[in-house]
Amino acid sequence: MSEPIMFSDLALSEPVMRAIQKVGYEQPSPIQAAAIPVLLAGGDILGMAQTGTGKTAAFALPLLSRIDTKQADPQILVLAPTRELAIQVAEAFQKYASEIPGFHVLPIYGGQDMTSQLRSLKRGAHVVVGTPGRVMDHLRRGSLNLNNLKALVLDEADEMLRMGFIDDVEWILEHTPKTRQTALFSATMPKEIRHVCNNYLNNATEIKIASSQSTDANIEQVYWMVSGTNKLDALTRILEVEPFDGMIIFVRTKTATVELAEKLEARGYSASALNGDMNQQLRERTIERLKTNKLDIVIATDVAARGIDVERVSHVVNYDIPYDSEAYVHRIGRTGRAGRSGKAILFVAPREKRLLYTIEKATKKPITLMELPSGATVTKHRIDQFTQQITDTLQAQADLSFFNDLLAEYSHKNDVSPEQIASAIAYLLQVERPLQVKFTDVKPERERSSRDDRGSRDRDDRGSRDGGRDRGSREDRPRREHNDENMDRYRIEVGRNHEARPGDIVGAIANEAGIESRFIGHIKLHDEFSTVDLPTGISKDILAKLKKVRVRNRPLEISLDTGPRTGGDDFSRKPKRDFGPREGGGRDFSNKDGGRDKPRFGERDGKKTSFRPKKTD
Ligand code: AMP
Repeated sequence: MSEPIMFSDLALSEPVMRAIQKVGYEQPSPIQAAAIPVLLAGGDILGMAQTGTGKTAAFALPLLSRIDTKQADPQILVLAPTRELAIQVAEAFQKYASEIPGFHVLPIYGGQDMTSQLRSLKRGAHVVVGTPGRVMDHLRRGSLNLNNLKALVLDEADEMLRMGFIDDVEWILEHTPKTRQTALFSATMPKEIRHVCNNYLNNATEIKIASSQSTDANIEQVYWMVSGTNKLDALTRILEVEPFDGMIIFVRTKTATVELAEKLEARGYSASALNGDMNQQLRERTIERLKTNKLDIVIATDVAARGIDVERVSHVVNYDIPYDSEAYVHRIGRTGRAGRSGKAILFVAPREKRLLYTIEKATKKPITLMELPSGATVTKHRIDQFTQQITDTLQAQADLSFFNDLLAEYSHKNDVSPEQIASAIAYLLQVERPLQVKFTDVKPERERSSRDDRGSRDRDDRGSRDGGRDRGSREDRPRREHNDENMDRYRIEVGRNHEARPGDIVGAIANEAGIESRFIGHIKLHDEFSTVDLPTGISKDILAKLKKVRVRNRPLEISLDTGPRTGGDDFSRKPKRDFGPREGGGRDFSNKDGGRDKPRFGERDGKKTSFRPKKTD
């Protein structure tokens, strides 16, 4: 492997470097190493990257390095498809700018109170992160001044296209200075996005982080979809039942190596951190301890674990997903050494699913879904261990005569059986670590699905597995099967004659009401109006908000649909057509998200989520 690029090689500003040090990043991710120099030099970028690759820092770090806090008007504008992403990106900017005095970032998105948004804009922000609809609103009102804009970032451009924002995005691009620097990030490259790149990017450097890597056949690869249980609990459950010898657990930051090592030690494991802050001698000593059985678990960053060759490492756990397939291959290559077999376990958050598929595709190896050990499995394991200890002690022919006499006397005096005494002692022994365990697992639909329906899960997360062939084909898109009991049909006063498209409607409702797009059901366009299925129990507040939301410049004026169900088709189960980039033609549409899962409204991955817009200022 060639020498890795380090942050210190990248000419980032001093305050930004201090912030990186503070958050504990050790090394730039591949997309960062490629994008940072170009953005620092003022160039445009077309980055093909998905969530989990470190793309936010790839644009935030260099752009922040060039910010002039004396200028109060926005210098950087980031457009993001959803309110959640806008908030997340704004938080990332805040984190990376923690050492830049007087820095302000402002997220603006639909559903947020306009008055406070206007006030915040008036106060000034160096960076604005917004959803396209709301940004457009402010530009029209004159409350957002982009005359001094230096850089514009389009984050998750394909998602903005999918949600029907592409016209708005182009409108915004038209209303920003031509001199601006532009960075566009997209996981896929449909032709509409290509078109935006061709028209609005200047000599852009294309960055695509994908390489074909092969993994050893003797390594079993599994993943667990992070949900319902937190990662630490999941890890300790795995540690209880997996028969491992040595283990390397990979995390992303130096801080995380230390924190996780401490937590595992507190749980009784012999674990130690290994990171780039430790000097060479200490690192070597740690690896030596792992080799010689003095240590079982090492929690490492990529940099620190490079080249570790310890035969007894039977397991690698990717606690934090690696940035790309190359890092994945290097990580899991720490096991299965010297012809032994090994096991690699990968934790994947739902939003990182695309990265999982990229890794699978690049390594040409399936990574199978694993179930977390159940309460019954852990219980059985603990009982086996416990009884084995009894057997071992009896077989070791230790001198037990003192205890024999003591307990015989106790039994006689108190008239209790030897079993009763043994039970009391066993209870005392196991009080800290009960033998019978019960976990209250919240199992999301996805986790229950089998490998065979991986295709549906792909689509459920909006992505298409092949990364590009995503919008055109009918078969490739899911059908949302709504249970009428969970959905109400609403009428909105925009229709085909107003040039409304399902994507516009989904986008507007998702962003303005904060209802995740996967909860938005079937959409049917009529000439003068449309109908849309939404989860039951939407609050009056949200409906009031939705009434005023505009699509194609017309207020939705949403109301419960009481009209006849024209046509009599069971179109909520068998839509004739999903929405996509087309004009005319079919009239029935179903929202692309959601697929077969029938998620209940207000639930996300098994957890309750709020759909009320959060106020950030
Ligand atoms: P993103 O792909 O931008 O959503 O980032 C994914 C995660 O990676 C975030 O939690 C970041 O904090 C983290 N991250 C980004 N860059 C680095 C880095 N160089 N080292 C460690 N973690 C990082």
